[in-house]
Amino acid sequence: MTEQLVDAYGRVHTNLRISVTDRCNIRCFYCMPADNVQFMEKASLLSFEEIVRFAKVAVRLGVNKVRLTGGEPLVRRDLHKLVAMLKAIPEIHDIGVTTNGILLADQAQDLYDAGMRRINVSLDAMTAEKFKQITRREGFEKVIEGITAAQRVGFRPVKVNAVAVRGLTEEEIVPMGEFARRTGVEIRFIEYMPLDADNAWQREKVLFGHEIIDILSREIGPLVALGQSDPGAPATDFQFQDGKGRIGLIASVSQPFCMSCNRFRITADGKLRNCLFSLEETDVKAIIRGGGSDDEIADAIRNSVAAKKEGHEINTARFIQPDRPMYSIGG
Ligand code: SAM
Ligand code: SF4
Repeated sequence: MTEQLVDAYGRVHTNLRISVTDRCNIRCFYCMPADNVQFMEKASLLSFEEIVRFAKVAVRLGVNKVRLTGGEPLVRRDLHKLVAMLKAIPEIHDIGVTTNGILLADQAQDLYDAGMRRINVSLDAMTAEKFKQITRREGFEKVIEGITAAQRVGFRPVKVNAVAVRGLTEEEIVPMGEFARRTGVEIRFIEYMPLDADNAWQREKVLFGHEIIDILSREIGPLVALGQSDPGAPATDFQFQDGKGRIGLIASVSQPFCMSCNRFRITADGKLRNCLFSLEETDVKAIIRGGGSDDEIADAIRNSVAAKKEGHEINTARFIQPDRPMYSIGG
């Protein structure tokens, strides 16, 4: 029987997030600085072979689900080749990607052909103007093209992640709800978390999940809560009562789901992190490039998971924002 990665609170870790780059083709204010970003040296990024070696060890410890992220994963050259390499590991039954969608229309077919089926596209606004205000770059139409292409080539489900920020994205909520009803994508609203590069997060800027549900129910129609299909999933799912349009809420700040978290992460430069908000990391790349064995990598994973804290402390005075912003961790 496969070993299980269980932490001190009994949480079984089966879900690995792999960041493939910290580079990005846009500059969302809640993630990256506007300019002069210090990116990782290319040579410090794990190669596809190194990522696959790490993933195979993680699979031995019970991982069966992988998601590629970044930075923007689609700016990593030949990403579809990595997908095919991971797909060849039989125990991994689910490979997904989280992307900003800018390059998706060009790559959707290759990713699908490599064996990927699940895709999350991040889009916070339904107008080009608001998109630019948030991302500080052009690209709204490209993202819409990317979502359409992903649906056309057969990705299921296609989910859209929208960060909800008070004073900025309230007027996007209804158009996004309508987009979900029109296109069949699930819109998942994510509460703004303190992982921005500018350290400008404030609790007052978090638009809470329950407020989003109130707005949608009032302006579009009643929402019915759906049961949680996957207990490790962070989203609570809803559907409009008339059966048209799914909405997810990732209420990381107002309703932390830490006690059901089953994830750990590896950064693009090969650092193992047991939580987005972790203040410590384990240098797996040093083990890999220092000639370490698979058993040493396995020990590093076991120890990292074993040291996982009970939960993030965003809602306490003790909270310390990690040095790495979201783009450098891999969201
Ligand atoms: N570039 C890809 C993208 O944007 O989808 C993948 C990486 S991005 C860091 C992963 C997810 O994290 C995106 O859905 C993004 O909206 C979300 N995210 C980034 N910073 C965030 C923050 N401060 N609070 C909440 N979500 C955030
Ligand atoms: Fe880039 Fe994604 Fe961060 Fe936006 S959230 S800046 S798309 S890495």
